Amino acid sequence: MIKNNIKDRLAYAKELDEQDELRAYRNQFYIPKQKNGAPHIYLCGNSLGLQPKITNDYIQQELKDWQNYGVDGHEKAKTPWLPYHEYLTDRMAKIVGAKPIEVVVMNTLSVNLHLLMASFYRPTKKRYKILIESDAFPSDRYAVESQVKFHGYKNGVLELSPRKGEDLLRAEDIETMIEKHGDEIALILIGCPNYYTGQVFNLKRIAALGHAKGCMVGIDLAHGAGNIKLELHDAQVDFAAWCTYKYLNSGPGSVGGCFIHERHSKAFDIPRFAGWWGHNKETRFGMRDPFNPIAGAEGWQLSNPPILSLAAINASLSIFEDVGMEALIKKSKKLTGYLEELVTKLGQDVIEIVTPKNTEERGCQLSLRIKSKDGKSVFDAITRQGVVADWRSPDVIRVAPTPLYNTFEDVYHFAQILKKEIEN
Ligand SMILES: *Cc1c(COP(=O)(O)O)cnc(C)c1O
Repeated sequence: MIKNNIKDRLAYAKELDEQDELRAYRNQFYIPKQKNGAPHIYLCGNSLGLQPKITNDYIQQELKDWQNYGVDGHEKAKTPWLPYHEYLTDRMAKIVGAKPIEVVVMNTLSVNLHLLMASFYRPTKKRYKILIESDAFPSDRYAVESQVKFHGYKNGVLELSPRKGEDLLRAEDIETMIEKHGDEIALILIGCPNYYTGQVFNLKRIAALGHAKGCMVGIDLAHGAGNIKLELHDAQVDFAAWCTYKYLNSGPGSVGGCFIHERHSKAFDIPRFAGWWGHNKETRFGMRDPFNPIAGAEGWQLSNPPILSLAAINASLSIFEDVGMEALIKKSKKLTGYLEELVTKLGQDVIEIVTPKNTEERGCQLSLRIKSKDGKSVFDAITRQGVVADWRSPDVIRVAPTPLYNTFEDVYHFAQILKKEIEN
């Protein structure tokens, strides 16, 4: 009991921060401030990651190169614009556990989902369904529904739902669904982790089951990239897409990332929507040749990319490269574990943690359901006290302590504010 008392104190959180090997990284970010000048308790990196201090320099460099060189910046800029996206590939590939040929940074997430479905959702009369989580992110839902419709099919979306009274999907239910309906499913599209519950799925297993039934398997990693351990190449999924403005801290609406498994890298017969940036680099500016796609993910590019946005990604990736996903995940488990411990103490009948307990089945986000009070009013009250979290109707507060810039002290103060609001 004495130990518990010690753990309830601010001094204990401070001690954890002192022991934290990554504590210096917080100072590399701008932490938004409250009116009173104190930093917000920012637990919303799952929605919009904070700005690294170096991002300004990276973007200024491009503005300067544009001032000085005009069109010649394509070759003369400090980081030449023509191959700019290539500078991001290796580091981005590491974050998702892919080979460089499998990864490209282009467009934005929902756009990429459509482009990838143009290639990997090839419905036939017998096999035209798309399997997706029942509580998938709305954009993903709209995307798959519109794809089904675009191809002239109806009722083509199959849902993976949790059992009655449960929030999480059971692995065996996913397996049964694929086993039972696999012959009708053209594409399995899963969000990992699920944006609402924070549940992480076994991608390798889902890909193996799906492939055994002849389905394509795609993954939305909006909440996974920069958050959880990913091994996309080994998992064998066909494709994946993610954004860079959540855990990857690359700015609002920044350009997204794509993965296309190596086995498709030279499958030039797969239908795709083409543009000049996906064309052979040797002859791209010849402007006369028929479309000749680059091997690998790069061959799916359409446009020359927005350099100012890539510059922000470049800045952010330099931090990720420096810290490494392994160290990041190690701290993440500790930090989220601490949050879990403090929230659990408030009592199961007061607050329920929807996210899985098993640390292999979650990232840094915990989805909290307030049971003893109206959740939205609790959310509004903690917001007034400097907490930045996010509300997902009908009844969940999502909090994501990110290991790059959040502290154990952040988590401690959050738990104190929450406790006070729930008990008052
Ligand atoms: C954040 C998020 C999106 C947003 O898509 P954009 O095209 O970047 O606006 C889509 N899907 C999921 C699962 C997300 O979490």
